[in-house]
Amino acid sequence: MLTYKKNILYMDNSLLNDIADKISTPAYIYSRKKLIENFRKFNGAFSKHNRIICYAVKANANPEILKILAKEGCGCDIVSGGELKLALKCGINPKKIVFAGVGKKDEEIRAALKAGILLFNVESIPELYKINEIAMALGKKAPTGFRVNPDIDAKTHPHITTGMSHNKFGLSLNEAEDGYLLAKTLKNIEISGVHCHIGSQITDPVSFEIASKKISAFINKIEKNSLKLKYIDMGGGLGINYNNDKIIKPKDYAAAITKYLPKNRVIILEPGRFMVAETCILVTKIIFVKKTAKKKFIVVDAGMNDLVRPAIYDAFHKIIPLLKRQGEQHNCDVVGPICESSDVFAKDRKLPPVTSGDYLAILCAGAYGYSMSSNYNMRPRPAEILVEGKNWKVIRKRETLEDILK
Ligand SMILES: *Cc1c(COP(=O)(O)O)cnc(C)c1O
Repeated sequence: MLTYKKNILYMDNSLLNDIADKISTPAYIYSRKKLIENFRKFNGAFSKHNRIICYAVKANANPEILKILAKEGCGCDIVSGGELKLALKCGINPKKIVFAGVGKKDEEIRAALKAGILLFNVESIPELYKINEIAMALGKKAPTGFRVNPDIDAKTHPHITTGMSHNKFGLSLNEAEDGYLLAKTLKNIEISGVHCHIGSQITDPVSFEIASKKISAFINKIEKNSLKLKYIDMGGGLGINYNNDKIIKPKDYAAAITKYLPKNRVIILEPGRFMVAETCILVTKIIFVKKTAKKKFIVVDAGMNDLVRPAIYDAFHKIIPLLKRQGEQHNCDVVGPICESSDVFAKDRKLPPVTSGDYLAILCAGAYGYSMSSNYNMRPRPAEILVEGKNWKVIRKRETLEDILK
């Protein structure tokens, strides 16, 4: 989706320099084409299976992105009442919405029951009682599965593992077994599935195979109690290529995650990062080039408030200039303006010659980028732009100081 023509960077057929000049920076810029491509590639990988793809909204909650996915027939994995409202507003079919999270509040449970979502992925016994109680008050049956924690080390960054026994998510396999027996006795609970999500940015297919095996054994055990789990929700987690990482192809992922699962079920997948990460760049402008005795700092106008992944996950993002100048590459640190030492996008990175006023593109910024942005240091959130061929449009206006002061 990104190509240089005569040393000037294009996204699809749009000249990025022009967009940055018109819209100012920082700005998240997305390719509509790439988004649709990602969905179709992922969905196609599971074509042999009866499946529902439930995009994890928390990766990127831009309404335009959700609308495009809704048109493709995609569902959603939500983790709050806000995400529920957004998904419904963007045309996502409620029968394709699954709801996870350890702290669902009464009003969020109520809203999801009223909307008629597909599945509550329940993360504790108190939550099960609460859902039963609210469903009873509404005269409904809540479609329910437990999120189980299969205790798998997915070998990813400790802040994004979720399926190990010390993580706060889900129930252990033993606890979940008791949970299903209890759920059977609750009148307003309809047991319909099981859920697991072992972590994010996973690049090793073996972790997915192990999850598949453990869940399959668990289902066997549970179904001896005359229960039937129609939906098997295997979560998200498929990694993408940030830094020449060895990644799993969607079809190999599909093979690994379904390897041991029983037949004749509906398989739910919750890709977040895979769907959006590579559709987007964060464009930022160089404010100063600062040389010290030890280092060369490229100070840009995006900060950790706009893209926090490097600061909190040590994440690597490639950085390239919108205008490639000729000359020797230099080692530099690319840093933001925020008053924190962790506000660094790249350390000792080789970059071609650049000067103040030049634009840089921070790559693979579509997942956990804008959605994790903040107003830290009293900075308005950036604009979001969608490119379609040689046309583009603003899909979220840049925040203003007045917006923040409200
Ligand atoms: C975050 C999350 C996902 C998406 O994870 P990715 O690594 O972005 O694919 C899916 N399911 C649940 C429950 C999540 O919390």
